[in-house]
Amino acid sequence: KLWVRLSAGGEFLAAMVIGDITAGKDQAAEADLQINDLRGSKVMNRRHFFKSSVAAAVAASVPTGNALSAALAALTTVEGDVAAVTGAGAAISLDKAAVTELADSLRGRLLLPGNEGYDAARSVLNFLIDKHPALIVQPTGAADVMNAVTFARENNLLLAVKCGGHSHSGKSTCDGGMQIDLSTLRSAHVDAGRREAYIGGGSLLGELDHEAMAHGLVTTAGTVSHTGVGGLTLGGGFGRLGRRFGLALDNVMAASIVTADGQLRRVSAEQEPDLYWALRGGGGNFGVVTEFEFKLHPMQRQVIGGEIVFPFDKARDVLNLFADYSMTAPDDLYLDFGMGSPLGSSDGYCMLHACYSGPAEKAEKVLAPLRKIGGEVKDGLVPIDYVAMQRAYDQDPTDPRTSASYMKSGFLKDFDGKLIDALLDNLQATPDFGASVYFQHSGGAIGRVADDATAFAHRYSTHNMMASAQWPVAGDSSQAMSFLRQYWSEIGKFTDGWYTVGVDNESAQAVNANYRGNYPRLVTIKKQYDPSNLFRLNANVKPGA
Ligand code: FAD
Repeated sequence: KLWVRLSAGGEFLAAMVIGDITAGKDQAAEADLQINDLRGSKVMNRRHFFKSSVAAAVAASVPTGNALSAALAALTTVEGDVAAVTGAGAAISLDKAAVTELADSLRGRLLLPGNEGYDAARSVLNFLIDKHPALIVQPTGAADVMNAVTFARENNLLLAVKCGGHSHSGKSTCDGGMQIDLSTLRSAHVDAGRREAYIGGGSLLGELDHEAMAHGLVTTAGTVSHTGVGGLTLGGGFGRLGRRFGLALDNVMAASIVTADGQLRRVSAEQEPDLYWALRGGGGNFGVVTEFEFKLHPMQRQVIGGEIVFPFDKARDVLNLFADYSMTAPDDLYLDFGMGSPLGSSDGYCMLHACYSGPAEKAEKVLAPLRKIGGEVKDGLVPIDYVAMQRAYDQDPTDPRTSASYMKSGFLKDFDGKLIDALLDNLQATPDFGASVYFQHSGGAIGRVADDATAFAHRYSTHNMMASAQWPVAGDSSQAMSFLRQYWSEIGKFTDGWYTVGVDNESAQAVNANYRGNYPRLVTIKKQYDPSNLFRLNANVKPGA
């Protein structure tokens, strides 16, 4: 019998012949030969090993569910040439041998259509997006990302990078290209002494919040814990602590990034400062971030957070209060407003969502204006653990998806009284489709950073206004979509610029204008680090522009 020991990742660790001393000499010699064959290559080629008869024999004897079975199942057999598309959209064929070589070069997995895990990897939160990459790489570290990026560049492949998969327009998946699925690159390590967090490039916000808070530390993250750290941070990163500590990207001290040339670079204020500048607001334009280094801040665990819900007929009073108080509130109060009519109902609602993270003794005074309005149907503003607050609006992955949505958004510079009229006069309540509008609070420390300190170009933003319409999955979208377009034509004119992470096929001119004065510098840096525009599935900075 040949005893073989493998790591969970499938690498060959050790082998031994276990035999009956009476066994024939020939059998022992053959087993010995096979062991020598395994020892033969210094760095064992996983594929070669598994394909050997020894591995096949071992595999056959290992019960399902064993780590070895998983490792074997993880292997991709490339059956033939792979049909793919270039970044420019041309059809190409990837040579079977080249794809096999890519698979061999990875510690992680290469997934082709039909492989186990392929559908989960290609799917994104917006389930209306149903794209099929030609190949998906699930890296286990920066080395795999370097190999994947090099392969994509050498073959001019269309390339998508997925972290949390929250891009509403589906920028993190693609048809016919390569997807790098960073869900295998999730990690969070905190150095409490240095007040820093080291976060894997595929991590979700929940990991960051959970690990940092265990040390009484925090940094700004978004409001839903399964959002990806990658997309959120590279585009901006608004959240319940943003008014105190700035955007998520303002807290990035350094990052490790694989650029289009396949090189891993560490960027910071001292190392490759231009690239460090561009990352913070330039989205996925410059490469694949494999690790973020965040500055952390001490904070108590308990905050006061939740919602006060009002009937729709209080909407004008609540909006008036919100327009006023959200502009003047202290930095430790984060205050959002939402209103709408849910799908299947013509009853409207409006609500304030707050998170107060300041000193407990000041809470009552800071929150008093919210409670002065009166007439609420629910006051859910309560003391709550910060990490629980951060998870409170997560979607339950087991919930059936019954509605689809269409969304538009833009930043406000102030809260014009005429906007309040436009919001209220044009909101339609009908059971045929749902409609809602939501304002995410900005300002505070976010606005105290210079416009050109990072590539993020919307420091002036006081709120991000997001309007959306929902319809039943199996139903007709046309009424909801045309309502939203009409509604946006009334309220969108009060906006100035839009959050790049919400980009949905905007024209090059619109993207250019949206980066404002930072665009020329972004183009220069793009030319230097990504001259072929490999990283184009984003609010794209074109190197030739
Ligand atoms: P993905 O779809 O995985 O990635 C989006 C893009 O980011 C990719 O196409 C790629 O270009 C880039 N990218 C991601 N990771 C990397 C990486 N490691 N290296 C290089 N490029 C990368 N935004 C806020 O600011 N605050 C919020 O509170 C907030 N709440 C949200 C709640 C929900 C339910 C949703 C759907 C979105 C929310 N957003 C919020 C918007 C969110 O920040 C963006 O959708 C963001 O792109 C999500 O990042 P992701 O990694 O999950 O997305």
